Amino acid sequence: EVKTQGRHGYRFYAPEMSQRSAASQRIEDVLRHALAHGELSLLYQPKVDAVLGHIVGAEALLRLQVDGEDLFVPDQFIPVAEDTGLIVSIGKWALREACLQARIWQREGWPIPVSVNVSPLQFQYAGFYERLDGILNETGLDPSLLELELTERTMMSGGDGTIRLLRRIRHRGVRLSLDDFGTGYSSLSYLKHFPVDALKIDRAFVRDITQDAETAAITSAIIAMARSLNKDVIAEGVETEAQSAFLREAGCSQLQGFLFGAPMPAEILEKRLAEQLV
Ligand code: C2E
Ligand code: MG
Ligand code: MG
Ligand code: MG
Repeated sequence: EVKTQGRHGYRFYAPEMSQRSAASQRIEDVLRHALAHGELSLLYQPKVDAVLGHIVGAEALLRLQVDGEDLFVPDQFIPVAEDTGLIVSIGKWALREACLQARIWQREGWPIPVSVNVSPLQFQYAGFYERLDGILNETGLDPSLLELELTERTMMSGGDGTIRLLRRIRHRGVRLSLDDFGTGYSSLSYLKHFPVDALKIDRAFVRDITQDAETAAITSAIIAMARSLNKDVIAEGVETEAQSAFLREAGCSQLQGFLFGAPMPAEILEKRLAEQLV
């Protein structure tokens, strides 16, 4: 933060401070408008089987687009949505929308699990489980076709009740994955501590595995450890064949990244699913 505490308790603001809050005010306005006018959308990025290459799942990713143009990208608007509390409504919208889509795919004969990102404030919100349960009941989606992606930060934010909440969610049949693994405190002990089904290796590792021997060694060790704990391991941000080959050999079960497809509209993913049947 640019905000600094002065020696006598005065707050000094760097010149960019007011600009920054003007920018986040603008994002907040756009978000409120988008929520009220149905201008939020989800794109779906395929997850592929590391060995066979076919689509085995998809991650829903929020977009704030007007006429196909991104007004802001998630790394800009998610933090504002968190700060303003808007993430509770936006996250609920995204969860419901993704469940409706997954239900359509379930009906059409493509029962692929769809994953949805959950941010800290949304997860902390007291009614989170009830909302999730309500959406599953309303949409009729098979809960095993839903996966929630939580970061360590999100899990840490849940307080004392976190493990109980995670267990309840899993008991409802919903899968859980630990997103951006390797970027936070990333202690492997979390894997034992938190009842998750899968671990997603962050893009920052994947980017360097073919360049840097240490990153390669650490990544291989994480994958081996996770597998020995019976967790699925999925790598995100896979952009090259070399990265893909390394990760497959190291024992990743699924891969996700531009090499296999950028986030795309549901109809396009559906076409890819239809193609792989023939
Ligand atoms: P994330 O969940 O870790 O999602 C992965 C991000 O990496 C996505 O960015 C995706 O488009 C991008 N990506 C995928 N493959 C590649 C690749 O090969 N190379 C590169 N350079 N990037 C790749 P996106 O869609 O901009 O989302 C950024 C972050 O915003 C997400 O990170 C997630 O933390 C958050 N986010 C997105 N949608 C939602 C949502 O519905 N709810 C919440 N709470 N957070 C969301
Ligand atoms: Mg994610
Ligand atoms: Mg991630
Ligand atoms: Mg991320």
